[in-house]
Amino acid sequence: MPPQIVKRRSRGFICVNAHPEGCGKNVERWVDAVRGKISAGPAVPKNVLVIGASTGYGLASRIAAAWGCGAKTLGVFFERPPEGDKVATAGYYNTVALHALAKRDGLFAASINGDAFSDDIKRVTAEALRTQMGPVDLVIYSLASPKRTDPRTGAVHNSVLKPVGQAYTNRTIELDTEKVVNVTLQPANENEIADTVAVMGGDDWRRWMELLLQENLLAKGARTLAYSYIGPEITWPIYRDGTIGQAKKDLERVAGDLDAMLANKLGGNAWVSVNKAVVTQASAAIPVVPLYLSLLPMIMKKKNLEEGPLEQMLRMFTDFLCASQPIKLDKSRRLRLDDREMRTDVQAEVAALWPQVATENLRTITDFAGFQREFRGLFGFEVEGVDYEQPTETDLKW
Ligand code: NAD
Repeated sequence: MPPQIVKRRSRGFICVNAHPEGCGKNVERWVDAVRGKISAGPAVPKNVLVIGASTGYGLASRIAAAWGCGAKTLGVFFERPPEGDKVATAGYYNTVALHALAKRDGLFAASINGDAFSDDIKRVTAEALRTQMGPVDLVIYSLASPKRTDPRTGAVHNSVLKPVGQAYTNRTIELDTEKVVNVTLQPANENEIADTVAVMGGDDWRRWMELLLQENLLAKGARTLAYSYIGPEITWPIYRDGTIGQAKKDLERVAGDLDAMLANKLGGNAWVSVNKAVVTQASAAIPVVPLYLSLLPMIMKKKNLEEGPLEQMLRMFTDFLCASQPIKLDKSRRLRLDDREMRTDVQAEVAALWPQVATENLRTITDFAGFQREFRGLFGFEVEGVDYEQPTETDLKW
């Protein structure tokens, strides 16, 4: 394929293509932001498996482990490669850039593109670890997926983002029309709740960890983490108390079981880390969240508190995982990286602006433009330093 000019294509708000150079620049920026920032110590991981490693929190975790800690990393993700003149997904191009930078900097990186929920990809990953890396001392589980096929039953589970128990009405941005509207979401039924828990709960995480343990691919003292979100009460009916929240509660329960298993067998640990709300492909799809994400970063920036996925993960490694003192957990045994987001003064400002937001003032009292820019940036568009008028190589491999 000769190089081609890639212009952003959208379906409504959603970008349906990606720009390889833009994605590359994003990865470079993250690598530069983390290099040399984590000081060496006994708790620094050396061999890291990241499941869901191509975008968002998983990609940030991988970059922090590799460039911050000098760890070897194996990333698993599900991304569409380029085909003919059809460009690949952003996570694919992010990985191409990550491999090029890892090679340049003498870091070991391997990647597996396929369905992490399947037995096949778990087996392929185990084999790759056995032959290329050896036992891992850190496993990050950062999948966000709308569906899961359970290989044991063949059942396809589709997750839904709905309240539980009763309907929920709140204002949201209708992204396609940029209108602020009231949306009423009907409660999920029992099957929808169970399906969402099957996709985003802890069952698959448990299967990964049991397999790695059984295959002797976990090092002594191995640790594993999965990510969760709590957020302000405004969003609880759709998040914390909604279907996705039920899945996250399941994740927390599984963290307890895995912690007991790892402590017993290897002196290891399993935790859930509660992260800050950031703009990712997954979070933008949650009703009400785009409005929250048009307000929160604006308020946090003003207070010099704003963090993206990379800054969050840098803090997770420096203040928690690599710290010499015992890891600080909340009373439900979770790491809390959402402390700045949840500060009373930050949330008071969100709450004060929330009822005032309307279609007419969306671009003046919120930073909807920033949210939109950030979202397009995830696909490599509107990234500084990229000339979008120039043809670019799209048929790339790592
Ligand atoms: P994301 O959409 O940026 O990343 C999802 C990753 O999962 C990608 O690497 C994708 O390729 C991979 N993936 C999806 N389906 C897969 C499959 N079947 N097999 C293999 N890989 C697959 O999402 P994110 O926002 O970074 O979310 C990651 C985790 O962080 C989730 O558990 C999410 O709930 C949690 N979290 C997100 C936020 C937020 O604001 N974005 C806040 C707190 C916690």
